[in-house]
Amino acid sequence: MAFKDASNPSGPVTLENGLTVAVDRTLCIGCGGCTAIASNTFGLDGEGKSTILDTADLDASTVINSAVSGCPVGAISVN
Ligand code: SF4
Repeated sequence: MAFKDASNPSGPVTLENGLTVAVDRTLCIGCGGCTAIASNTFGLDGEGKSTILDTADLDASTVINSAVSGCPVGAISVN
């Protein structure tokens, strides 16, 4: 698994579409919902926390926003 920003796997990371995505690792419960909805953008690391993948630019912003809305604990922020 390759991260968009290897030095900052859970972001914040700014994508080519201008969105800056970040996962609050203290909130993430590793449910995998975001990885199912936006599979190019999110992946769980070895600690079961969501990270932003190097393929994130392949997902449309609408898909990423759906993943944000679907997070049960509000761990993902997009600006
Ligand atoms: S949907 Fe939210 S809680 Fe679930 S893995 Fe993604 S960031 Fe973590």
